[in-house]
Amino acid sequence: MNNKVFALIDCNAFYVSCERVFNPKLNNRPVVALSNNDGCIISRSKEAKALGIKMGVPLFKVKDIVEKENVFVFSSNYTLYADMSRRVMNIISYSSPHTEIYSIDEAFVELSSLSIDYEEYAHQLRKTILQHTGIPVSIGIASTKTLSKVANHKAKKDETLNGVCSLVGHKNIDRTYSQGHGYKDLCKELLNIDISKKQQSSDWSNPDLTKEQINYAATDVMHLHAIKIKLDEILKRQNRELLVEACIKFLPIRVELDLRGWENDIFSHSN
Ligand SMILES: [Mg+2]
Repeated sequence: MNNKVFALIDCNAFYVSCERVFNPKLNNRPVVALSNNDGCIISRSKEAKALGIKMGVPLFKVKDIVEKENVFVFSSNYTLYADMSRRVMNIISYSSPHTEIYSIDEAFVELSSLSIDYEEYAHQLRKTILQHTGIPVSIGIASTKTLSKVANHKAKKDETLNGVCSLVGHKNIDRTYSQGHGYKDLCKELLNIDISKKQQSSDWSNPDLTKEQINYAATDVMHLHAIKIKLDEILKRQNRELLVEACIKFLPIRVELDLRGWENDIFSHSN
C-alpha cells in the first residue's frame, strides 16, 4: 500500500512572472519570453496563451498576432531567473525537509511524513511564496509524482481551485463524513432516514411478491433523487463539480483500460 503524498510546486509562466515582479506594467496583458537567441517563445503569460501562442513557436511565425495584439516580447534573462528560482526554492525547502528541486521552476515535496493538512499547507505555501517573491505558483497534491503533475495541471487550468488541486485526503470526490458509502448509509447521513435491509435477502424469484417486498423494492430507490440533490450541494460547496464532470467523462476510457487489463484503479477506495 502506497501511503506517500507528493506535492508538485510549479511556478506559473515562470520567466514572464519574474519579469513582472520588476515591471508591474506587464500584469494583465499578453507577455512572452524568448529563448537564448531570441528565436522561440519559451514562456507565455496566461493572456498570451489565450491568444493561441504556442510554447516553443518561432517568433516570426506569430509576428502578426504579436503586432496586432500588442504582445510584450522580451529576451530571457537567466541571471534574474536563477536568482528568483533560488528564492522560491529556499521558501519551499524551509517548508519541508523532503524537498526535491526538479527544475528551475518546479519542486516536489514529500508530505506524508509531516502531520499536516495537505491542502492547508499548499495554500499557505502559495501565499508565502507570492508574498516573499512575487511569483505565483500552482500546487498539485497526489499519491505519486506523476499524479501530482496531473493535479498541478488541473490547479493551473481551473481558476476556482485557487492554485491548489489535491487528489488525496478524501476517499470519495464527493466526500461524506461517515465510513459507509452505501445507499443505507447515505439515507441515514444525508436525509436522516433509516432504511431496513431486512427484505434484501428474501426470495425475489417468487412470482407473487409480498407487500413487504414491494415496499422494500420501492424504498430501495425512492430516496435516490433526494440523495443526488444533497451530494450535488456538497460538490458545489467544495468546488468539485468540474472534477466530477471530468471523472464521468473519463469513464469510457476507464472501461477501455479495464478491458485491456490495466490494473491500477484511479477510482478505487478501500471500504
Ligand atoms: Mg512552470
